[in-house]
Amino acid sequence: MLNFQRKLSEMEQVILENMKKQNTVLWLNPNKTDELPENHSFSFQEVINAEKRLQRFSRYIQAVFPETKKLQGIIESDLIEIPKMKPFIEKNAEKPLLGKLLLKCDHELAVSGSIKARGGIYEVLKFAEQCAIEKGFIKETDDYEKFKSEAFRQCFSQYKIAVGSTGNLGLSIGIMAAKLGFQVTVHMSMDAKKWKKDLLREKGVKVIEYESDYSLAVEEGRKQAEHDPMCHFVDDENSIDLFSGYAVSALRLKNQLEELNIQVDEEHPLFVYLPCGVGGGPGGVAYGLKALYKEHVHIFFGEPTQSPCMLLGMMTGLHDKIAVKDIGLTNRTEADGLAVGRASKFVGKLMEPILSGCYTVDDEFLFESLKKMMQHEGIFMEPSSHASVYGPIQLLKEGNAYIEKYELTNRLHQATHILWATGGNMVPQEQREVYLNR
Ligand SMILES: *Cc1c(COP(=O)(O)O)cnc(C)c1O
Repeated sequence: MLNFQRKLSEMEQVILENMKKQNTVLWLNPNKTDELPENHSFSFQEVINAEKRLQRFSRYIQAVFPETKKLQGIIESDLIEIPKMKPFIEKNAEKPLLGKLLLKCDHELAVSGSIKARGGIYEVLKFAEQCAIEKGFIKETDDYEKFKSEAFRQCFSQYKIAVGSTGNLGLSIGIMAAKLGFQVTVHMSMDAKKWKKDLLREKGVKVIEYESDYSLAVEEGRKQAEHDPMCHFVDDENSIDLFSGYAVSALRLKNQLEELNIQVDEEHPLFVYLPCGVGGGPGGVAYGLKALYKEHVHIFFGEPTQSPCMLLGMMTGLHDKIAVKDIGLTNRTEADGLAVGRASKFVGKLMEPILSGCYTVDDEFLFESLKKMMQHEGIFMEPSSHASVYGPIQLLKEGNAYIEKYELTNRLHQATHILWATGGNMVPQEQREVYLNR
């Protein structure tokens, strides 16, 4: 018998039993206060600093990644309406979805085609800046296009960067770090797709493959980096820098909502649904949005029925002291970006007062949604991304208690629902066909 940190309510015990049976569930967070956590190692100032740092690097980014020129070297995605997906959601929920339905297109982010282009690239840039400042190569007020020069690349070639990943983080870190001239090693879990490893090797990145899952790949990477003072390990489970890079998206989203004349306030609730793996990506976005919109934003994380690590960690209060295998699940899912069996404690703790809830989704739905999104909106997103689409369905089907508790019933017709698309653009055509023909 596992010893939980929190006593589960009757409702939560039912949820746990359903999780063991791999049924889809919706868990509502009883600890939500809508306040940002205090006395924590993280503060909103980090997010502001990250945005400024990304601004400093924008001249360099547009010089080395020409596709970022149209946004002046800022890596950002569109926010678009996807009304043609409403009938699919409503059919699955057996209820109408009131309000607006939008997609945040991080599957199209420049450079690496996933949400990891936020956190991953940011952490590499921050490390590069730190090295360059230490060596006296640059001041914050200089033109950062200098980072392109051979002298900088020479300098960075003495340093190493390492990361453990299920695929997309490795891709972002690998592409950015190799571009700057670092020696890069990516420790890939068994879930990582072959094309991601091939692409990295083409760019001169050292890829080490593991027969085990994500947690072990991270552990091995961390161990190897520990013994090397010239090696910076990007720690997906604990990194404040990754988290800050993800959180910047909230500042950008606020501007985009304003440009679309979409209000967020007491009368106009905002619902955001994010696919969750170890937690850093969705957690960073959630933190930023909560700082900006307080109780008017309602944030839900989606995880595969086989890998609900964040739900399990938060519901039991055990965070990284419990893994999905402890309740008999396999952590095997086609949603490779979400194949994580043990959540980040750093993120889980931060989410306690912020998150509205977590839900699970089965792989079959992900593929059905993948086809429908292609048919109706002409948009391709990888399977992990589609965990977001199940959010409003679960809320409509099982979230009545939430809607009533926060007195949202009469405001739903003025609500905005954002599905956070997290990856897709880098997926090769043959792999897309495989997904679409399943
Ligand atoms: C990594 C990833 C996520 C989840 O991010 P975490 O930081 O692991 O929680 C979601 N979708 C895709 C496509 C990803 O690659």
